[in-house]
Amino acid sequence: MGFKVAIIGRPNVGKSTLFNRLVGKKLALVDDTPGVTRDRRVHAAKLYDLHFDVIDTAGFEDTAASTLPGRMRQQTEIAIREADLIFFTVDAKSGLLPDDRTFAEVVRKSGKPVVLVANKAEARGAQGGMLEAWELGLGEPIPVSAEHGQGMPDLRDAVVEALGEERAFGEDEEEEDGDEVAASEVLIGEDIADPDAEASYDDTKPLRIAVVGRPNAGKSTLINALIGEERLLTGPEAGITRDSISVDWDWRGRRIKLFDTAGMRRKSKVQEKLEKLSVQDGLRAIRFAEIVIIVLDATIPFEKQDLQIADLITREGRAPVIAFNKWDLIDNPQELLAELREKTERLLPQVRGIQAVTVSAETGRGLDKLMESVIKTHKVWNSRVSTGKLNRWLEGILAHHPPPAVAGRRLKIKYVTQAKTRPPGFVVSCSRPDAMPQSYVRYLTNSLREAFDMPGVPIRMALRTSD
Ligand code: GDP
Ligand code: GDP
Repeated sequence: MGFKVAIIGRPNVGKSTLFNRLVGKKLALVDDTPGVTRDRRVHAAKLYDLHFDVIDTAGFEDTAASTLPGRMRQQTEIAIREADLIFFTVDAKSGLLPDDRTFAEVVRKSGKPVVLVANKAEARGAQGGMLEAWELGLGEPIPVSAEHGQGMPDLRDAVVEALGEERAFGEDEEEEDGDEVAASEVLIGEDIADPDAEASYDDTKPLRIAVVGRPNAGKSTLINALIGEERLLTGPEAGITRDSISVDWDWRGRRIKLFDTAGMRRKSKVQEKLEKLSVQDGLRAIRFAEIVIIVLDATIPFEKQDLQIADLITREGRAPVIAFNKWDLIDNPQELLAELREKTERLLPQVRGIQAVTVSAETGRGLDKLMESVIKTHKVWNSRVSTGKLNRWLEGILAHHPPPAVAGRRLKIKYVTQAKTRPPGFVVSCSRPDAMPQSYVRYLTNSLREAFDMPGVPIRMALRTSD
């Protein structure tokens, strides 16, 4: 097993809830398995592709006491000593209490790597607590909701950053696939508001890509062409066996992490596992990825299953890029291209302006263009619009196309803010959210997409009451 994590924080911040989510099942607070003494409080946990142990500190604390009892402090110190990494957890909803600072001091003195977890971030008013958490001097707070399973992709990234890739993945042992799927089911990923008003695009972190598509669309051929045939054929067996999780490579200096899909495996292995590798496998790859390349066979594009995959990707909040493959087989490229463009826009309105590139995985044609499109889309997916710009845009909208009257009363929109990125998510503060027609929300989404140049990514739009 890789490394050990201790979840530390004052009572009631959500440590047990986070523990249970990471361990993936409800455990009794006190685990009395007979015969297990030394490791009684250590449980195997998973966060996407990270495998580690979590030290169960439940029961360490005396929740009735408002001060920090000596025993609790001592136990916390033991947990910290055993751990390679600390999840210092605070409650973003309630904000900081004196105990948070006391615990933070203990953690800081230990010198251990820390991830500052700002829990309950989904709650109303959590932004204030998030900002306050910076004061602890433990680095950037990672907003999560342990209860609702949100923010887990960012937590994963923060762990890798705190430990370094080598440590995070180092002695990792591969496990059975079925298990993996179960873990990602638990950790349905969704990002939470980033407290940074204008986050800038970070191109130092590896960009996570998955390649999906129907059998025979050309996924394996495409992946081999992208990362280089020799690498798959001559690389160490461990990198290409059916249990492998990802392949790292770089494209024009940009680090890329390509996630486990059928295409990464040798053909024989694919055949072996054909039944297992269907929807679940694709779903897992999609959740790991930031950008998902949908490979379509240009000679038989847009079957029902292709559209289902695209829909799944956008519902998961990932950004799709289409590769129309086998373009070398097409006799009437001009005509077909026009037809495909029209179909794409019509069939995938939820990602209007989606990047779609014609390629031939076999000849390598179009692959650079494909990667450029991936990076362009990734930037859009990460983009953030300031509240000032949004509300100047809103003024124009309200002047020219205000919301309709419903039952004789005009709906009012007060303001718009961007609550999150990856994908971009906006909150519209309005008088009667329930009465707002879907068609008007769609109108807002589309004009926002155009005004701020955000083609091809899912855009989330939430309505809130303004008072
Ligand atoms: P611990 O004392 O730190 O182990 O905290 P618990 O895990 O027992 O959680 C304390 C309370 O916070 C419980 O009522 C949880 O249901 C609640 N809680 C935990 N996580 C979240 C969250 O992400 N959001 C919200 N709103 N409440 C949470
Ligand atoms: P996968 O099942 O999606 O991984 O598809 P494969 O990569 O195994 O490809 C299926 C078939 O299509 C193979 O016979 C490939 O040689 C062929 N193929 C893949 N890409 C291209 C292409 O760009 N042009 C042509 N003509 N054939 C291709």
